[in-house]
Amino acid sequence: MTATSTDRIPGIVAGLRHGYTAGVTRPEAWRRAQLERLRALLLDRGADFEAALRIDLGKSGTESQLTEIGFLVAEIDHALARLRSWMRPRRAPLPLALQPASARIVPEPLGVVLVIAPWNYPLMLALSPLVGAIAAGNAAVVKPSELAPATSALLALLLPDALDRRAVTVVTGGVPETSALLAEPFDHIFYTGNGRVGRIVARAAAEHLTPVTLELGGKSPVYVDATTPLAETARRIAWGKFMNAGQTCVAPDYVLGEPEVLERLAPRLADAIHELYGSAIARNPDYGRIVNDAHFARLTSYLADGEILAGGAHDAASRFLEPTVLGGVDPGAPVMQEEIFGPILPLVPIAGLDAALAFVAGRDRPLAAYVFSEDAAVRRRWERETSSGALNFGVPSLHLAAPELPFGGVGPSGTGAYHGERSFARFSHEKPVLAKPLAPDTLAATIMPPFTPAKDALA
Ligand code: NAD
Repeated sequence: MTATSTDRIPGIVAGLRHGYTAGVTRPEAWRRAQLERLRALLLDRGADFEAALRIDLGKSGTESQLTEIGFLVAEIDHALARLRSWMRPRRAPLPLALQPASARIVPEPLGVVLVIAPWNYPLMLALSPLVGAIAAGNAAVVKPSELAPATSALLALLLPDALDRRAVTVVTGGVPETSALLAEPFDHIFYTGNGRVGRIVARAAAEHLTPVTLELGGKSPVYVDATTPLAETARRIAWGKFMNAGQTCVAPDYVLGEPEVLERLAPRLADAIHELYGSAIARNPDYGRIVNDAHFARLTSYLADGEILAGGAHDAASRFLEPTVLGGVDPGAPVMQEEIFGPILPLVPIAGLDAALAFVAGRDRPLAAYVFSEDAAVRRRWERETSSGALNFGVPSLHLAAPELPFGGVGPSGTGAYHGERSFARFSHEKPVLAKPLAPDTLAATIMPPFTPAKDALA
């Protein structure tokens, strides 16, 4: 992957600013045409995107279709079907004291926006924010992740021909190129990635008073109690955890449960892994690879943090790490200190519901929390007593696929939510437009001075 020259970056952003100021991106017809072209690109070049995702992450074609390509097509269809209604100004009622007058809320584009994407869903997380940015009428720079070089290069190759170059561009590269972009005055920065870089982005944005959306990560807990059917629960947890070899922002990070529940769950998890990926997992094309050597070394160092109850096999040359369940993990162990972001699932024994709620409430607010309990009172307590980007009962990750649900974190797991209409809103300014006739002049008698009863008294 060749990186964009940093010398060119100010000119690239200025070019987009010119396109935006000239009004290129505003018409509904332009937005619709760009979204349709993006949709056609994803469908026509689906096989190329699948191939790039296989090179970068060993992703299976089916998984790429489900979680990246098909996901984006569905998102574009959702936006195209609703674009006109999202763009329509809404009438707003006014208090009696301000009447006669009328008001509308008019969504307007923010301007030129920057989308910075990570490597784990390198296509979906680069283009999903772009769908919102285009729908809302913005010009945009997309900066895909250098850690997914095949997908990044393909986006840089295909996007400029598919979309209007006056308003959409791709900048490739890593830290120097992203830093050069961050020096430019954008009207919004949409960053997906880790919290350390999130802070760098927020600091750079503050220089220009640029608003940011930060889609970050964290340790998303799972709580399992004795009321849930364990075989089905294990299958769902294994599916959410081991998809994309655990490199999913909303993947279950660890499981909390009473010791006897975890003891019964562990063999069910081993069965579920077998059901999903067979016994020769290293040869199964449905199972992905760890993105690079540094992450592989970090992940394999965690294998010493508990008893390996399932999996554990690994191969550095192919960066293969088998779906792994670690038993009896101490909350102080290294694997419990940072987001795992790989196919290792620690089981953390805990005294009971109160202790589990306190455990989660006492740590950084996660991107998601997952509860497997058939007890309504238990579910209610998780809803009321913990805070997380999202809370799912009975299934991990699924909220991500519902366009009517806001997707995002809270506190250290992120700022601002998107998907569906919220993506449109994220990249729009809601401008109130108020109109009041000059006659009758009700204001003179109400809110204008003099406020003293007799004007003569001042003379
Ligand atoms: P990454 O290393 O690809 O970094 C993300 C982006 O930041 C890249 O485009 C990279 O070029 C840029 N970057 C890296 N260092 C930088 C620096 N010093 N200055 C400026 N830019 C820099 O991806 P990552 O951060 O490893 O991604 C994994 C993290 O992202 C996990 O924490 C995961 O939970 C989170 N994530 C969140 C979501 C979400 O939607 N909330 C989705 C996916 C991943």
